[in-house]
Amino acid sequence: MSANRVVVVGSINMDLVARTPRMPAPGETILGTTFATTPGGKGANQAIAAARAGADVAFVGAVGDDTFALDLRQALVDAEVDAERLREVSGPSGVAVITVDDDGQNSIVVLPGANSRVLDLTDEELRPVADADVLLCQLEIPVETVTAAARHGSAHDTVVMLNPSPARPLPDELIASVDVLVVNETEEQQLGGDTLARVAHVVTTLGADGARYRGPQGDRVQVGSPDVDAVDTTGAGDAFTGALAFAWDRGPRDALTFACAAGALATTRPGASAASPTRAEIEALLSENT
Ligand code: ADP
Repeated sequence: MSANRVVVVGSINMDLVARTPRMPAPGETILGTTFATTPGGKGANQAIAAARAGADVAFVGAVGDDTFALDLRQALVDAEVDAERLREVSGPSGVAVITVDDDGQNSIVVLPGANSRVLDLTDEELRPVADADVLLCQLEIPVETVTAAARHGSAHDTVVMLNPSPARPLPDELIASVDVLVVNETEEQQLGGDTLARVAHVVTTLGADGARYRGPQGDRVQVGSPDVDAVDTTGAGDAFTGALAFAWDRGPRDALTFACAAGALATTRPGASAASPTRAEIEALLSENT
């Protein structure tokens, strides 16, 4: 099968991750153990996951004019994601300041930076949306932009897939343009049944239990996730969603099975985008499980 064309209109952040023995109290200074900078943001993570899973991926978004911008662009390029339409705007790139303690608890401050400037998409930025098989969006950029991209995709017979994270009420115009919602159980509850009922295809991830699907005729499919030794579930949802975008045209059962294998493999490695598996790894796990 030829690689599916996926376009992601979404966020890209630098994650600044400090590991500490325990969380500092307000006003307290403590010594940490390690520090790492890793590219993140749900848009970039899912774009990289889709590319590793086998898709031809283009990314539309923005970085700032700071020193992080170069590394963020390079992370997309390294994953063979087309970054031609990554805007560079004045001011800071998006960052997430993350503290993780020895109990695995985290506290996170997200500064959207350039992500909040992904507004008024140009014809050049919209072109890949019209040409793609699947448009994949999240809610870490302005919702007006997601709505405009979704409308454009819908008008050009591109499958519009939305991972509504962080969850918030969706404008009617956006709901009307979405073909596929990808949610976890928390997001499913936050959005509510009325919103879900207005979208033709809903995919709900269930952690170690896999994922379920509800289609336009109320048809239902549930698949399990392969049994793996999970060490870090960060990024499992993004790996699942990127792989689902790639495999969507295989039909719900095969697409969910492929995406669950990608999500499961992502839990076996630390980190977010760095954890997403390649198509060969996903297929190897699937052939072990059949
Ligand atoms: P999120 O991280 O967005 O809350 P989930 O926890 O539902 O999403 O995980 C996304 C997908 O990753 C699941 O559908 C599943 O395929 C896979 N996954 C997550 N945790 C595990 C696990 N412990 N074992 C196997 N697969 C897992």
